[in-house]
Amino acid sequence: MEYRCEFLERLERTPASVSYRFKTPAKLIYAAGQFMMVDLGEGLVHPLSMSDCPEETGFIEFTKRMTGSPYCQRLESLKPGEKITVKGPYGQFSCDESSRYIVMLAGGIGITPIRSILKSREKTPDEQCRIVLVYGNLNREDIAFREELEHIKLPGYRLVHVLSDTTGVKGACQGFVTAELIMRKIPEYREATYMISGPPVMVEAVKKALGAMDILAGRIRTDVFMGYDE
Ligand SMILES: Cc1cc2nc3c(=O)[nH]c(=O)nc-3n(C[C@H](O)[C@H](O)[C@H](O)COP(=O)(O)OP(=O)(O)OC[C@H]3O[C@@H](n4cnc5c(N)ncnc54)[C@H](O)[C@@H]3O)c2cc1C
Repeated sequence: MEYRCEFLERLERTPASVSYRFKTPAKLIYAAGQFMMVDLGEGLVHPLSMSDCPEETGFIEFTKRMTGSPYCQRLESLKPGEKITVKGPYGQFSCDESSRYIVMLAGGIGITPIRSILKSREKTPDEQCRIVLVYGNLNREDIAFREELEHIKLPGYRLVHVLSDTTGVKGACQGFVTAELIMRKIPEYREATYMISGPPVMVEAVKKALGAMDILAGRIRTDVFMGYDE
């Protein structure tokens, strides 16, 4: 389905990522973790995950990593009240209802569908399910939605920050997401279902790490943000 929707406001999440909110088009129904084709006109179209969740009413939100591209420049030029076209929703980034232990692995801007899923689950918590979020970034100021993600109210929820520079983030792990790190931080790793979201390089590296841990491919879901070359 195609919708026209009205730009409401921008919110700076980090120095390199900005959220853009639009009035929810009438009749749009979507699930947490889905994405839309966001068409800004003049051939500027990209798939973007919704970083809001359906339970947050009145707006839909896309959070873009700022690269200086023509697409980003056009986003930055949007004026409140201006209309753009969105198509969708598309994709299915979710876990089986039966998953009892979920490890979410997000790299940088790959957090957008995961933030959506966590906020949605907060509204109807599953008492039997345990979620660990492993979130990789460069440094403290690079962590989008940090405050919110540190305070998600779900039973047994844990957040593990993995940073190149851990200054100012208590308990953060230094380096990259590796098999050793996952096994050390998540004792239940053998029973878990995995959801990986991020740029292609990060998703491939994490899949490889899970392979080395003998995690079956059937227990791994991915959301690959094609379009980033690093
Ligand atoms: C299912 C799905 C969901 C996605 N969800 C998101 C999301 O929630 N948020 C998000 O940010 N992205 C998301 N993406 C990726 C998004 O669709 C774009 O491909 C990506 O954001 C790159 O777009 P761009 O306009 O920044 O760069 P493009 O213009 O498409 O250029 C590609 C590359 O060139 C570089 N580049 C381009 N122009 C310049 C310039 N002038 N200066 C320096 N470097 C430049 C960019 O860094 C980029 O790596 C998603 C992708 C998929 C497939």
